[in-house]
Amino acid sequence: MKVLVVGVGVAGPTLAYWLLRAGHEPVLVERAPALRRGGHLVDFWGAGFDVAEKMDIVAELRRRGHRFTEARAVTSRGKGFASFTPGAIVGSDERYVSIPRSDLAATVHDALEGRVETIFDDTVSTLEDDGVRVRVTFESGYEREVDLVVGADGLHSRVRRLVFGPQERFERRLGIVVCAFDVTGYGPRDDLVAVMYAGIGFQLVRLSMPGDVTMFLITLRHAGDVPETDPVAQQDLLRERLAGAGGETSAALEAMSSSDSFYFDRVSQIRMPAWTRGRVGLVGDAAACPSLLAGQGSALAMIEAYVLAAELAGSGGDHAGAFSRYEERLASFVRAKQDGVRGLGVAFAPRNRGQLILRNAVLRLLGQPFVAARVMGTSFRDAVELPVWTPAGSSP
Ligand SMILES: Cc1cc2nc3c(=O)[nH]c(=O)nc-3n(C[C@H](O)[C@H](O)[C@H](O)COP(=O)(O)OP(=O)(O)OC[C@H]3O[C@@H](n4cnc5c(N)ncnc54)[C@H](O)[C@@H]3O)c2cc1C
Repeated sequence: MKVLVVGVGVAGPTLAYWLLRAGHEPVLVERAPALRRGGHLVDFWGAGFDVAEKMDIVAELRRRGHRFTEARAVTSRGKGFASFTPGAIVGSDERYVSIPRSDLAATVHDALEGRVETIFDDTVSTLEDDGVRVRVTFESGYEREVDLVVGADGLHSRVRRLVFGPQERFERRLGIVVCAFDVTGYGPRDDLVAVMYAGIGFQLVRLSMPGDVTMFLITLRHAGDVPETDPVAQQDLLRERLAGAGGETSAALEAMSSSDSFYFDRVSQIRMPAWTRGRVGLVGDAAACPSLLAGQGSALAMIEAYVLAAELAGSGGDHAGAFSRYEERLASFVRAKQDGVRGLGVAFAPRNRGQLILRNAVLRLLGQPFVAARVMGTSFRDAVELPVWTPAGSSP
């Protein structure tokens, strides 16, 4: 089958990889002019790691990624009061890597070894599903007919909007905005330590990485609308809301002005009753973004892509059956991940003094390995069984 996959993030190339291995003909289209660079870090582990192992890309992920040795909560004077290892939270020091989202996406795309056509700087503008084929027009004016279209185009998916309806229908806003940026030459540094400082309504995380690079991640409680596409207005909002917030916030905000990477968005989930309609499906954040609070969106994106390809591989051309098995297999697992973030906003942006005290107390407890394993291990454990299949197609 010819399958147009929209979006070359994490889910898109993973799906293309497995479709190719199953003997299908995937084509990728990405709105950006090239593979995106920079961006935020993702902690990658769990069943997504199993998919990466099956693709033989773990060594490359480790080469491009980092292993943080400590997460340290500090006071406004920078004094540490709680400390734990990220591995204790995710349940393994071995099967975990922190990697820029763009490097994860590039590693998966590289695994295709140029065997999948990738169209950059374009996107779909209309999709006409006549029940037998999908006629696609692109913004460039180019047209194509394919058997299936899969939207892997992230939280603000256009494929979802075109086929399933407006984003507002499926988006659950969690009342927090997130910003990430990196700079070189920032001090102080604490190599491979995530230094976390929080006050009422926000958290600032400083991540010191090799090459004198520092990444900042700011999460801010914000209930109203946010400027969607204007980085100047977004930075103004942060400066205004974090004025006098103490700790390293003013130095971080100053560094933000000189950064050439700036990511800003609202923290949201996508909750849909179905991820497929006719000959069009969705994977990754487009289908079921769990939000950054879940800390597993990229792993889920890879799991969904793998399962969808596995179901299509064994379908004998019955895409409708494959689509419904894909949903049946994953819907409750993914919904549980989404439900699991309830209450986690306290950790990222405590609403009030009481929540700040609670956050700090929980962070202190996480320093006890037994507590970390019990408290976090259960909510982050992946209760999903990946389908076992032997692709008929050759390895890309
Ligand atoms: C600050 C932050 C921290 C996070 N931390 C973690 C973490 O620790 N662990 C974790 O697992 N996950 C984390 N996540 C979530 C993770 O980044 C996402 O869940 C994951 O990237 C989803 O992959 P995806 O391929 O579905 O979407 P994306 O990675 O967003 O990729 C979508 C792709 O589609 C392209 N695109 C968009 N629109 C179009 C269009 N119309 N046409 C063509 N292409 C289009 C985009 O350019 C992009 O390349 C975090 C997210 C954020 C924001």
